[in-house]
Amino acid sequence: MSLFQKKSQGAAARHDLSAEQAVLAETVLNSIHDGVLIVDGNGLVKLANPAAARMTGNNSPSDMLGLSFLSVLRLQTGEGAALPDNQNPLAHAAANNANFESRDFYLLSLQGEGIPIAISLVPSGGRNSDRIITFRNIAQELAKESEQTEFISTASHEMRTPVASIEGYLGLALNPSTATIDGRARQYLTEAHAASQHLGKLFQDLLDVTKLDDKRAKVHLVPAEMVSTVRDIATKQFNALSEGKKLSFSFGSGADSGADNDDVQVDQLVYAMVDLDFLQEILANLISNAIKYTPEGGAIWVAARGDGDNVLINVTDTGMGISPDNLTHIFQKFYRVDNSQTREIGGTGLGLYIVKERTEAMGGRVWAESTFSEGSTFYVSLPRISEEEYNRQNLVLKNVAAMPIGPAAAAPVANAMATATMQAVNEAPVVAQAAAPVAAPAPVAQAPDMDPEKLAALKQQFAQQASQQNQSSQISTSSVQ
Ligand code: ADP
Repeated sequence: MSLFQKKSQGAAARHDLSAEQAVLAETVLNSIHDGVLIVDGNGLVKLANPAAARMTGNNSPSDMLGLSFLSVLRLQTGEGAALPDNQNPLAHAAANNANFESRDFYLLSLQGEGIPIAISLVPSGGRNSDRIITFRNIAQELAKESEQTEFISTASHEMRTPVASIEGYLGLALNPSTATIDGRARQYLTEAHAASQHLGKLFQDLLDVTKLDDKRAKVHLVPAEMVSTVRDIATKQFNALSEGKKLSFSFGSGADSGADNDDVQVDQLVYAMVDLDFLQEILANLISNAIKYTPEGGAIWVAARGDGDNVLINVTDTGMGISPDNLTHIFQKFYRVDNSQTREIGGTGLGLYIVKERTEAMGGRVWAESTFSEGSTFYVSLPRISEEEYNRQNLVLKNVAAMPIGPAAAAPVANAMATATMQAVNEAPVVAQAAAPVAAPAPVAQAPDMDPEKLAALKQQFAQQASQQNQSSQISTSSVQ
């Protein structure tokens, strides 16, 4: 056999093999239930499989070829709001040739049906490469998860009540004015009291996490002056949580700020749209950690200030610090640093996960810097709004508060709130959006649920906030002068 023949036989064999592989690949693509799209560098669909056509409501894969993938894969948030291209993380990932993965979106079919999907985008590699997008229907998975969440939520709720009662009675037994016990009994009951408090916190955290996972906890954004709001919440939380532990606490003193950015301005009035309950939870978790992980004699410093297009909050402590290995994991659900010091301190590993979820729900970002054995700073950055926008949002809230309560009033109020808060979010500085992790969708402000009870609660919230802000802006103004 000549060398030529050998060569050509080899080439033919290779050709047969690649032809066979192409057939196999096509068979796989045609038979799987996941939708697959291959998109070129200009965002045009080069290949689609039958599942992709089915899920998007097209008659056949060929109907999708050559179209912009964004017109084929129309994404919605869980609340049914359309995602404009500039807030679409999939578009962002495709434009930047970056990986993307999410379970937070619905796919809107041509027939108008919304299907919850898990979606991923992977660049195929190489220069000017294609992007491979896969997506699958997760309606059943979500239903199962929701059942589990419901179970955990009910169980922790039921268990929290008897634990609170045990904690209460142990407190009475330890209180010299309500019970007389000897030293040894006091020692045992003190241990039991601490353990019951730990258990109570664990159930509370589980409840909070199930609410987060359930996505039922909706964001109610209201305008707030952040320096005074954070100062009030942080001071109250420190007083409530430190329980006499000898730690010094200061707010926004400017000295030893832990912030290394020259743009940071302390003691200025700065504004943001926030959910006050979420902000309270965030600060409570960060401050309770600072207290827990800082030995007596240490210091805790909290501040809120403008940082370019964001409002930057920091909670700084002089405590045990976190090693670089652990620093990358601490925001994960149930993650606890395991060393001889932390083992003695109770915890569930849920606090920082809750902080991260709550911050991202408001369109913000959270991170930590720490030096082991010296201390830590946790930063929460939220999109800032201008003073004019703050006043405008307050006016909208005032109009809501002045409206009559009742089903007839509900729809226009919902619309007014939705429009106002959406504008605030859309007009929020672009820098803040870009800084948020891609996986976290841009915040979608919610119109409050418009049943009369909720509307009444909203009015009350506004009235409280307005009086708080009147008081605190007076304090802030005088401290600036
Ligand atoms: P936990 O209930 O264990 O405190 P968190 O999610 O709040 O859970 O925190 C996760 C871990 O991060 C903690 O176990 C702790 O080791 C570490 N950590 C959090 N805050 C601090 C802090 N201010 N100083 C030192 N370590 C901290």
